[in-house]
Amino acid sequence: MRRLFVAGNWKMHKNIAEAQSFVQGIVKQAPKYQNVDIAVCPPFLALPDIARLCQGSHLQVGAQNMHWEGSGAYTGEVSARMLSEVCDLVIIGHSERRQYFGETDETVNRKVKAALQAGLDVILCVGETLEENEAGRTEAVVSRQLKLGLAGISGDQAPHITIAYEPVWAIGTGKTATPEDANQVHKGVIRPLLRAQFGVSRGHAMRIQYGGSIKPSNAAELFAMSDIDGGLVGGASLEVESFLEIIKAAAMVGIIIAESGG
Ligand code: PEP
Repeated sequence: MRRLFVAGNWKMHKNIAEAQSFVQGIVKQAPKYQNVDIAVCPPFLALPDIARLCQGSHLQVGAQNMHWEGSGAYTGEVSARMLSEVCDLVIIGHSERRQYFGETDETVNRKVKAALQAGLDVILCVGETLEENEAGRTEAVVSRQLKLGLAGISGDQAPHITIAYEPVWAIGTGKTATPEDANQVHKGVIRPLLRAQFGVSRGHAMRIQYGGSIKPSNAAELFAMSDIDGGLVGGASLEVESFLEIIKAAAMVGIIIAESGG
């Protein structure tokens, strides 16, 4: 059975004080949801304080991006080695980085390798645009992003990687993929590729999160699908109450799956 994993991507929101007070609210309630892996991914500046506040809890702390080099003349960048001093994980290849900051499958792959090398876990984002979706190219796009993003990654690194399937047309738009459609991509496209690259049992054990307008009202039905192993949450991760409701939905689904022996 895969533990459900809920991660909050705060994007460019919250100053240090706001981030601290948010995380204190989550840390207080997190012990109730021990059967769910939880991560918060604040902007860079807040990371050290958030990491300190999360110590002793089961909350993990992630960054939203990184550079693939360890150090050097890369003005404005932060390396995996630097992040590893305070972070557990890093989000790589988010569609906003691909869309606005020139992220390519090749740079995504370099970042994935550097992050794992530095001891960070990775949430690798893949997903098609609306245009690609309407042209029936979802499978081709997601397969390409996944194969190139994971090129050269070995089976023993697989447990450190989570895939986030985020259809771009569902991010921040209020439109959510139906649980069935999302699960079809998770189960029919992503899972077979993970099994092919990493072997059946490792591919089976990897978590595939869904991302795209997850809210308290739709989280449980998404998480109940066979291959949706949690969520990468943007907008709804910015309020303590809505983020906790989503974590609670994951915890309840986790209990039901455990009781059914799934
Ligand atoms: C995201 O940014 O990864 C995301 C899924 O955003 P939202 O939940 O706001 O759609």
